[in-house]
Amino acid sequence: MIFYFAWCFYPDFKNHLHRRPASRRCLSILTAIISFNGLISANHIFAKTTPNTNFDVTSYTLTLTPDIQNETVSGHETILLHAVSNALQRLDFTRNALTIESALLDGIPLSSTQTGDNLTFNLPTPIPRGHTVKLELIYHGHPARGLARSATALYTSYFACDWMVCRQDAFGDKADFSLKLRVSSGMNTLSVGRLLSKQIEPDGSEVHLWKSPRPYSAYLYGFAIGHFASVTNQVGLTKLTYLSDIAEAEELKRRLASTNEMVHFLSEKAGIPLPVAEYSQLLVKGDEAQEAATYSVIGMDELPTTNNDPAQDWVIIHELTHQWWGNLITCATLQDFWLNEGITTFITAVWKEHLYGQAAYNAELNLARQRLEKARNKGFDKPLAWNGDYPTLGIRRAVQYSKGALFMDYLRTTLGDTAFWSGIRRYTRAHAGGTVTSIDFEKDMETASGRDLHQIFNDWVFGVASQSTTPSSQPKNIISPR
Ligand SMILES: [Zn+2]
Repeated sequence: MIFYFAWCFYPDFKNHLHRRPASRRCLSILTAIISFNGLISANHIFAKTTPNTNFDVTSYTLTLTPDIQNETVSGHETILLHAVSNALQRLDFTRNALTIESALLDGIPLSSTQTGDNLTFNLPTPIPRGHTVKLELIYHGHPARGLARSATALYTSYFACDWMVCRQDAFGDKADFSLKLRVSSGMNTLSVGRLLSKQIEPDGSEVHLWKSPRPYSAYLYGFAIGHFASVTNQVGLTKLTYLSDIAEAEELKRRLASTNEMVHFLSEKAGIPLPVAEYSQLLVKGDEAQEAATYSVIGMDELPTTNNDPAQDWVIIHELTHQWWGNLITCATLQDFWLNEGITTFITAVWKEHLYGQAAYNAELNLARQRLEKARNKGFDKPLAWNGDYPTLGIRRAVQYSKGALFMDYLRTTLGDTAFWSGIRRYTRAHAGGTVTSIDFEKDMETASGRDLHQIFNDWVFGVASQSTTPSSQPKNIISPR
């Protein structure tokens, strides 16, 4: 199973929101947070680092052989990148537990070192700015995080740079992703984009080639292997696929039936259709909830147990919403992470308003209010684009998810629905496929509304916090997107 070591350092938050039996493992406790009425959404954790911005990755091309039983991988990876600073002397990627068997830069062997959060390749000669190079890696190992088990399947979740070499926190560095999965005969696979080909090898194994339709941030890479029941249907230009190793086709159809209406609803709100030709939802055992570039992984325990209960109904809409806000339009750095999660949390409330009425919308925002208030009672509140350390995961979420959603509601109320949704559509269309900062969002909302929003954004997003600061003795900043 995944080891959520870092998150386990935060017992106060666990106890606060934990609704499940204390005997469950850290993973379950963590995901219980996510399921807490569905408003906070985060299944994963990573330590905040300042990504090396000296180079830009164009593409990751992998051949990967996952071992379901042992939860290990062996891989051959090619990374194309170019220097964006002068005289690039080393390449920093996210440190992981894989053993690097060989590394070649344009055919020349490289040494690697692991220091702090970085896996570093030292370059024999500096790379000039603008120059493109090819880094070829062979590795194997047992990823410390990022691989998870359903009943019989193996799937990845968030920590791509634990099972491959990439840059987990470099949200702004979107790259093409192509993955060949080597699996045993008859096994099903899921990854980013489309399954382009299946090749039978002499030993009877199969190699399935998947390719992303556009560049995505590395945290959105992923795959799943197993024997899956599947159902497909078409909505607009997109093929929807529901997959599972624990549910049959009829149950998949029934439990994920709301997806079609959600796609129409979100397309109208975003001003652009679902931006992938194929969108899949993999239903797994447990309480998973994680978006990937062109699919989502949903734990059975997160789906509503009764119909028409808005408090339980969140995971399908939340993860689908990320196809626009988060995946297609991605915060350039973690400083603006609220643009991924605050908007998505707000949109989840708007869906509930659409489906269940005003009271459900209000209830969702009240929950956000309570969470923010709890953080304030602990002496902590920050502007949305604050770039300092948060003392706990829960407090970070209270700001970036909950306060982010409340700010969106405030803007909606202040501007009125017509100008507000016009601004959302403008922002979404203008930055589709790219990365954004809070300034981009402010500009688009100002243009659409014809109003100067500087003071409002200063108060909520950029302002200097008057509240207490994080003591320097606090543990390293931890964040948990989903
Ligand atoms: Zn999310």
